[in-house]
Amino acid sequence: MMMVGLWISACAHVETRLPVPDVDRLHREAATQENLAFKRYTSMLTRLDRVSAIILAKNADICAKTRLDIGVRTHTLKSYPKHLREAAGRQLGATKTASILRANPQTAFLPADILLNEERPAISDGDKVFQKYLQDGASSVFVRRGDEIIEVPITPRAVCDYRVSLKFSGAVNAYATGKSIIVTTSMMDFTDTDEELALVVGHELAHNTMGHVRKIIQNTILSGFATRTTRPFEAEADYVGLYYMARAGYEIEGVEMFWQRLGVVNPKSIFRAKTHPITPSRLLSIRLTAQEINHKREKGEDLVPNKLRQPK
Ligand SMILES: [Zn+2]
Repeated sequence: MMMVGLWISACAHVETRLPVPDVDRLHREAATQENLAFKRYTSMLTRLDRVSAIILAKNADICAKTRLDIGVRTHTLKSYPKHLREAAGRQLGATKTASILRANPQTAFLPADILLNEERPAISDGDKVFQKYLQDGASSVFVRRGDEIIEVPITPRAVCDYRVSLKFSGAVNAYATGKSIIVTTSMMDFTDTDEELALVVGHELAHNTMGHVRKIIQNTILSGFATRTTRPFEAEADYVGLYYMARAGYEIEGVEMFWQRLGVVNPKSIFRAKTHPITPSRLLSIRLTAQEINHKREKGEDLVPNKLRQPK
């Protein structure tokens, strides 16, 4: 019925004299909002990159799937949401060709350098050809810097091979696809500290490394009842994810309070959750895991999740 009401009012006339903004001011305000939106997006991306890079690097020794990383983040116009691409071109010089957005200070790369592969054409973001080139033991790569081609020394290091990306969304959410990790802009806002963000990234990394996406599909096929079967996997991602976070050097003490804050803004999740454990259970389980990790640290044991005893 509401839809009908809106439809009718769209055809009718308003009764009051409405203000008419000046066109120039309208354009200026639009530019201001676009710039602020782009600034917000890029600062979130920088933060997400910083936290996830540490987690992906520090857990490479226990991730089954790794790739080589040379400490740069490349970008093209397509790296940005459609409505921010113009701003990305204007403010960061993004083009259709992959170039360096950010480089670790330890490297000799500069923003706007264009990575070239052995045959010297520009490579696109995440190109497998470039990975192959690194696996062959390259100790330097060529970049186009302005009009020059420069050889830059590199020290590739192994990182867990899962791409991390930021998604524009009003939902406080993060998810894993089996190959990548996606965190929403609202989740970035909700995570008060880098520790909380590390908790989220660690959880999603665990979904990927433990093969949960594949297992959930299998369970669904076998039981025909998806919702309840995902709960143990969520609990396992919390458990393994906290280890990933601790191994990356993040402070785990008190990070479980994230789940109290989430329960407060989403009270339904305190009592009932179809696909996930309830928030009080997640908080207490993470606290128990933190105790387990601290105990291992005190005894000088390896920080690896406890496995179930395998049946003989
Ligand atoms: Zn999950």
